[in-house]
Amino acid sequence: MSIKLLPLEISARIAAGEVVERPVSVVKELIENSLDAKATKIKISLSNGGIDSIEISDNGVGVPYDEAGLVFERFATSKIEHIDDLDHISSLGFRGEAVFSIAAISRVELITKTHESDIGTHLIVQDGEFLSQSPIAANTGTIFKVIGLFNNFPARRKFLGSALAESRRILSLIKKYSIIRPNVSFEYHQLNSRSFVTSGSGDIRDVMVEIYGRDIANDMLILDKSEFEEIYPGTIVEGIVSNPTQNKSNRSHINLFVNERLIQSKSLSYSFEQAYHGFIAERKFPFGMLNISIPFDDVDVNVHPAKTEVLFHKENLIFSLIQKSIRNTLLEKMPVLDVTFDNNDLYMTD
Ligand code: ADP
Ligand code: MG
Repeated sequence: MSIKLLPLEISARIAAGEVVERPVSVVKELIENSLDAKATKIKISLSNGGIDSIEISDNGVGVPYDEAGLVFERFATSKIEHIDDLDHISSLGFRGEAVFSIAAISRVELITKTHESDIGTHLIVQDGEFLSQSPIAANTGTIFKVIGLFNNFPARRKFLGSALAESRRILSLIKKYSIIRPNVSFEYHQLNSRSFVTSGSGDIRDVMVEIYGRDIANDMLILDKSEFEEIYPGTIVEGIVSNPTQNKSNRSHINLFVNERLIQSKSLSYSFEQAYHGFIAERKFPFGMLNISIPFDDVDVNVHPAKTEVLFHKENLIFSLIQKSIRNTLLEKMPVLDVTFDNNDLYMTD
């Protein structure tokens, strides 16, 4: 075969395949857009586990009428401008390809209005094709409706789980975002019932009460903001973690964020676990969340389209900071541990 440039229809599908693995990927991208748009209220409703429809509305800054079409263009973003910006990304999005990708494999309706504008914009794109743009009465903020995900992509559709399995993934993701953003009110609806709501009070313990119930939440330990100027300048570790008498049977409740970005990292989850070494029974796992703020140019988030894998310049340091800050909190807030456990038992990497 001779070399040919792929038509947009195919390249869009390839891009979409990387960004949107399943309904939860759509929810993740749209929540991140709402957060980047400074929303304080985000409402998510699904039908059929998000396979038939996902609707996400926010009270963020919205998009002006004459820019709304650009939202659907590949590599169109309001978040970075210069090549150097890639070295210190502070927003959750920056690749300008999520909405483009989602719209390549579904029907997307966007309703958006800025505070400055009297009238909103209603835009419809289906399977990557622009169908219409018209004015509409709307509140300030943005609503995305994603209908019939993967209808034109049977190869991917057949990998989806049941509606229940997909909605479980989505609820678990929403919980993670609500933990890192206690000042944002999240409202999740499934089958027209309110299944999960956070108040947006700003108090992380309120969020934990919604997720784990009052008894568990009250026993969890807040990590005082620890700074590590002498070890790693510009770094702060904060969060809320289980106390050693609380535990889970797997590690899926360890939530890690770097600069408020949800990340997946086996080695950092391991350092969270190791902080409880000697305090918690074998094959039991701690839970909670940590946000590690590090200088933006010490983490590369431009590794994968889904942006959950990141590269750290000083991963070993972060590993030991996580352990130290949890360990300090455990010993400080539960002094009895100090007596019962030998500190030499600690596993430290530095
Ligand atoms: P990225 O987030 O990487 O910039 P996206 O494809 O997710 O790319 O979104 C493209 C652009 O559309 C964003 O840069 C932003 O300007 C705009 N946008 C998307 N969602 C929203 C929203 N909920 N509120 C305001 N603007 C939005
Ligand atoms: Mg985005």
